[in-house]
Amino acid sequence: MDKFDIRSATLDELCDFVESLGEKRYRGQQVFEWINQKFVENFDEMTNLPAAFREKLMIHTVFFAPKIVEKQISKDNSTKKFLFELQNYGIMDSVQVEAVLMAYRHGFSVCLSTQAGCRMGCDFCASGAHGLVRNLTAGEIAAQIYKISHSEGIGISNVVLMGMGEPLDNFDNVVKFIRLVNHAKGLNLGQRNITLSTCGLVPRIFDIIRENLQIGLAISLHAPNDQIRRRLMPIARKYSLDELLAACREYVRGGRRITFEYIMIDGVNDSAGNARELCKKLAGINCHINLIPANNIPEKGYTKSKPRAIAIFSNILENSGFTVTLRRELGSDISAACGQLRNSNRA
Ligand code: SF4
Repeated sequence: MDKFDIRSATLDELCDFVESLGEKRYRGQQVFEWINQKFVENFDEMTNLPAAFREKLMIHTVFFAPKIVEKQISKDNSTKKFLFELQNYGIMDSVQVEAVLMAYRHGFSVCLSTQAGCRMGCDFCASGAHGLVRNLTAGEIAAQIYKISHSEGIGISNVVLMGMGEPLDNFDNVVKFIRLVNHAKGLNLGQRNITLSTCGLVPRIFDIIRENLQIGLAISLHAPNDQIRRRLMPIARKYSLDELLAACREYVRGGRRITFEYIMIDGVNDSAGNARELCKKLAGINCHINLIPANNIPEKGYTKSKPRAIAIFSNILENSGFTVTLRRELGSDISAACGQLRNSNRA
């Protein structure tokens, strides 16, 4: 019989489980709080549980602790990047994922991985370069927050699912993760403080609406038309820009937040004409547009857009009434793009 994945368990699942071990239901809540509120990493630290119960938990559950194998800190101390090794079902399978801690004026934000690797194959991305290794469990996604929070001695106010992996390609575990960290007896993180970034798995966007989640959505758009988008992102061959934007229009109905991420690549998607085309496509969608100067990828011939091109592009969007930000290049002296730290560690 598979051991019980205690980190991924909801409060109800945990209460049911402890009952199946012959314990009182309230013990489930105690364990849930130790893991999801106090971030302990072994049963011995759960000091209000009887020793015999802790022993049962040790026998019947898997309770891994992510290991920090590398940490990079930017010179200005605003960004810390963590390379974690995870254990799957108690066996070290040497899966490595990254998370990034960013200090903002309003608090600390973490960017988490939802998969080891990724199968979406976006042309500009290091995370997808080696394909998908495996999905992370809900507990493995949450444990990245807990480990950072505990080891740095800080509270986390915002979470972005924008690290390694396509969150909507690991839908069930990601939804479970959101409910786990949102729970009042756990981290109690508001859904509106969570942003999920997707390359555009259209049916799954409708699934999020059906799940009635109030999280923010960040769409990796990166192009004003299907032709450019298909060149950059294989997913665009499956779902057209019009289909994707129809899902986005539905998503913002009911007050949900949406951001369009747009990587600016010199000579590929950054002309004034591209900006005007984008304005037409996004007309009527209450959104925020985030422009991100690309990382230089010499082997693909991609370089970041020139500052003048970014300024012109941004002005055209703003003059059409869109809210535009240029992503602050946090920690640009460390391997800041997703997948870079893991890839340099594999080399
Ligand atoms: S950009 Fe995101 S979806 Fe695309 S390959 Fe990279 S991790 Fe996957």
